[in-house]
Amino acid sequence: MMPTIHPTGIANRLSCPTCGNDEVFFELANDVLLTSHYTQNSDGSFTHDSDTTQINGDVLLFCGACQEDLSRYHQRFKEMIF
Ligand SMILES: [Zn+2]
Repeated sequence: MMPTIHPTGIANRLSCPTCGNDEVFFELANDVLLTSHYTQNSDGSFTHDSDTTQINGDVLLFCGACQEDLSRYHQRFKEMIF
C-alpha cells in the first residue's frame, strides 16, 4: 500500500455503487485532438519533442472493475487528483 494523504478525510473516497470498487477508475475522452511535435535532425531522422492534447468533447469516468459509467462523480474525481 502506498501511503496516501487525504486532506478532507476518508469519507470522500469515491467508490463504485455497483461493485464497490474504490481503487481503479478510467477516463474516456471524446473528440480528442492530439498534436505531436517533432524536430528533424541533420541526418534526416526525427526526434519527438512534445504532445499537445486538446479535448473538445465530453470526458467520461468509468469504474475500472465493472465498467459502470461513473461520470456523475467526475467533477469530484477531478478535484481529488493530486
Ligand atoms: Zn464497479
